[in-house]
Amino acid sequence: MIIKVPKEVETALNILHVNSYEAYIVGGCVRDSIMGKVPSDWDVATSAKPEEILLCFNQYRTIETGIRHGTVTVIISKMQIEITTYRIDGEYSDNRRPDDVLFTDKIEFDLKRRDFTINALAYNKNGVIDLFGGLDDIKNKIVKCVGDSDERFNEDGLRILRALRFASVLNFDIEKNTSYSIFRNKNLLNNISMERINIELNKLIMGSNFQNILLEYRDVIEVFLPEIQDLTKEKLEYRLNAMKALNSLILRLSVLLHKIDSPDKILMNLKYDNKTVKTFKLLTENIDEKIYPDQVSIKKWLNKINHVNLNYLIKIKKAMFDYEYEELTKSKKIMKDIIATNQCYSLKTLAINGQDIIDSGVPKGKNIGIVLNKVLNKVIEGKLENNKDTLLIYIYDKREELLSSKK
Ligand code: ATP
Ligand code: MG
Repeated sequence: MIIKVPKEVETALNILHVNSYEAYIVGGCVRDSIMGKVPSDWDVATSAKPEEILLCFNQYRTIETGIRHGTVTVIISKMQIEITTYRIDGEYSDNRRPDDVLFTDKIEFDLKRRDFTINALAYNKNGVIDLFGGLDDIKNKIVKCVGDSDERFNEDGLRILRALRFASVLNFDIEKNTSYSIFRNKNLLNNISMERINIELNKLIMGSNFQNILLEYRDVIEVFLPEIQDLTKEKLEYRLNAMKALNSLILRLSVLLHKIDSPDKILMNLKYDNKTVKTFKLLTENIDEKIYPDQVSIKKWLNKINHVNLNYLIKIKKAMFDYEYEELTKSKKIMKDIIATNQCYSLKTLAINGQDIIDSGVPKGKNIGIVLNKVLNKVIEGKLENNKDTLLIYIYDKREELLSSKK
């Protein structure tokens, strides 16, 4: 078997070889290459110790990424390559991190500590090293632990979620014993930080087989996301189906977790960033609000949630409510037209601002905002032209009415 390795990676392997160290590409990049996919990054494992790696690459820019764990990042013609010394993980006393790592000069040990057979392959110009049947498992589309599943999950509980992630992303089945062990050991996920869970969960949700995995393994997901316990099987299936039509994480999360008790708290707990939480809150709060396909109501929506979010909301509603599909397509068209023709729908695009109103003699204070919003509404409703003179004359004419009633 021959894997086409980028020339920068080839260079890294060669430099280690001429310095009489062993070196292989390992992990995800080998798996992906064999599957005919383009790997996202290329990891190298070597018998060289961290200081020796640094010496080998002293002509290149290096970053001491995790020197204690044996990882050096080498930059070769702008490509970042992570080079890691062969490792044996020490004892795992807390089900998540080895207490210490030991370096070794045997690739066998380094492959043995890896999570799944499909991830425990190494390759260089001498061929593939496949000690655990990873090649067959790739061919048969199987996620299977290296060694005893119970033991491996007890070493690091995150592997439970990683198994689901790989099954979802690669569209693989989980081998029977590994699968039983996942259910048996699911509570080990309680020991894992939400930051690590977050990364795997996102990949799982965006994977091509997320529907089946989330249905089949919902008991496992509920360990860190107990809120979905309240969803009936039918409801969950319905949501998963709608999610399929959506291509971004925030949209899929919004569908999965709307109308659940304080959904934004769930997201915060899962360590999503503030922007994601904010968008999520806005979308989930508005899922059941009607969007009427006419200029005025679309402008009001734009003013309320801005056009990126309205676009998201329309996508979500299209995916969830078949019977509104045509109306929503129309709404989207109206929205695009409003944006393309720079029509006014917000205070930002109104032809006057607060200072203009003060200059026209209205006393400073809260009422400025009230007047602006009333005028904006008239413009949105098409009752006033968005033109500075028109608006100022209107304010002057109606000043008493505008300032008397609050809204
Ligand atoms: P991706 O393409 O999504 O990056 P990957 O297989 O490269 O997939 P990473 O999380 O980048 O996954 O990990 C790189 C490699 O390190 C894995 O292929 C696996 O061999 C090993 N590995 C990562 N995390 C663990 C873990 N928790 N336990 C054991 N081995 C692991
Ligand atoms: Mg990777």
